[in-house]
Amino acid sequence: MLDEKIFEMKDQIIKSVQESVRIKSVEDEPREGMPFGEGIHKAFLHCLQLSQSLGFKTVNIDNMIGYAEYGEGDEMVAVLGHLDVVPEGEGWTYPPYGAEIHEGKIYGRGTIDDKGPTIGALYALKAIADLKLPLKRRVRIIFGLNEETGSKCVKHYVDKGEEIPVWGFTPDAEYPIINGEKGIVTCKYKRTFNEEIPLISIKGGTAPNVVPDYAEVVVSLSNEKKKLAKKVAETMEEIELREEGDNLIIMAHGVSAHGSTPEKGKNAISYLLLFMHKLNFSGEFGDFLNFVNSYMELDLHGRKLGIYSEDEVSGKFIFNLGTVQGNNQEINIEINMRYPVTKKYEDFIDIFKEKMNLGKMEEIYIRHKKSLYVHPETEFIKKLQKVYQEKTGDKADLISIGGGTYAKAMENLVAFGPVFRGQPKVEHMPDEYIKIDDLIKNVQIMAAAIYELAN
Ligand SMILES: [Zn+2]
Repeated sequence: MLDEKIFEMKDQIIKSVQESVRIKSVEDEPREGMPFGEGIHKAFLHCLQLSQSLGFKTVNIDNMIGYAEYGEGDEMVAVLGHLDVVPEGEGWTYPPYGAEIHEGKIYGRGTIDDKGPTIGALYALKAIADLKLPLKRRVRIIFGLNEETGSKCVKHYVDKGEEIPVWGFTPDAEYPIINGEKGIVTCKYKRTFNEEIPLISIKGGTAPNVVPDYAEVVVSLSNEKKKLAKKVAETMEEIELREEGDNLIIMAHGVSAHGSTPEKGKNAISYLLLFMHKLNFSGEFGDFLNFVNSYMELDLHGRKLGIYSEDEVSGKFIFNLGTVQGNNQEINIEINMRYPVTKKYEDFIDIFKEKMNLGKMEEIYIRHKKSLYVHPETEFIKKLQKVYQEKTGDKADLISIGGGTYAKAMENLVAFGPVFRGQPKVEHMPDEYIKIDDLIKNVQIMAAAIYELAN
């Protein structure tokens, strides 16, 4: 019944998604009443108006986030989507904000991530409302406006004391169901030197959550140390030397990879620091290299730091030394760590800080997103599995990932859809698209899921 109803609304769904995609909603300068800029605000107003025209009550929370709500009951279930998009970038065949349809696909920034699924969720609820299907819980479709650049929208929702759903999902990742996401810690530390050191500059890496593929240091060395450097360089294929006047430039080449899978890469900073350590520096600079060598070098899992853990669901603790940057007075490093889904921040953070202290490393910042894990036996997960299996005929495996999805932003959510198994990843890419058949399929799955979760 729901499926047919949704199929009847197909043209309307396509039209609404197109309208939204045609509003360029990339984060921009804040303006009065537009905390994330004018484009995002317009896309937000479009969605609120659409919700009202479909007959839903809407709430705008300080232009930071809003929702459409339907039904009655003490408890509420939610679908969390977002209307902001990443910049279009280069290389498009079709206009990135044209929402043109070619061969059954709508092309444009935000079609799959996440305007298509978010507006789709609204129509899923509309189908339930039109058919007057009885629900025991209220349903909210929440419109996030800042997923791509920090989720300040959901933080505002939570800080304002808005109602947290008893359960819900975000169609902002992939099917079947992601019930586990590792906890993520990103931090920056600084070592300051109080004496003359041979370092002129050091740099490497682009971001804490990326395995650096290149790092280099410029040093001023005695002839004796230069000789040693040349000898050691012959034993390490990652290292390349170049003399420039009195200075020696030491370059380390690695392989880039995402910070959640460092085993797929080769950390250039780690190799650079290992090489430097082999040159046996003394004094404060030597202390620093000893510290790094003892506690983090070439270690992808925090074993040397004594913070290693693992679990059956999500595997090993992940450690990535992502960036280094410094001069003859200080060295800054940024680290990205991911702990298993069933573990806690408190399990390791004090040990980590203690070790950094030991290395005279001064904390600049620590950011933490806690792990997410919903037990497979919970009623909520069982309901989503049942819906997914019935609608797709595919087995509803549960997935644990090392990255983080929008589900982390709010309690009691998991990521569910919109990308089907085996489909190419097109979000954040040129020629982002959603297949119209998949869009409709998503609306049908979401409608069934909302119905199950609300009863
Ligand atoms: Zn997204």
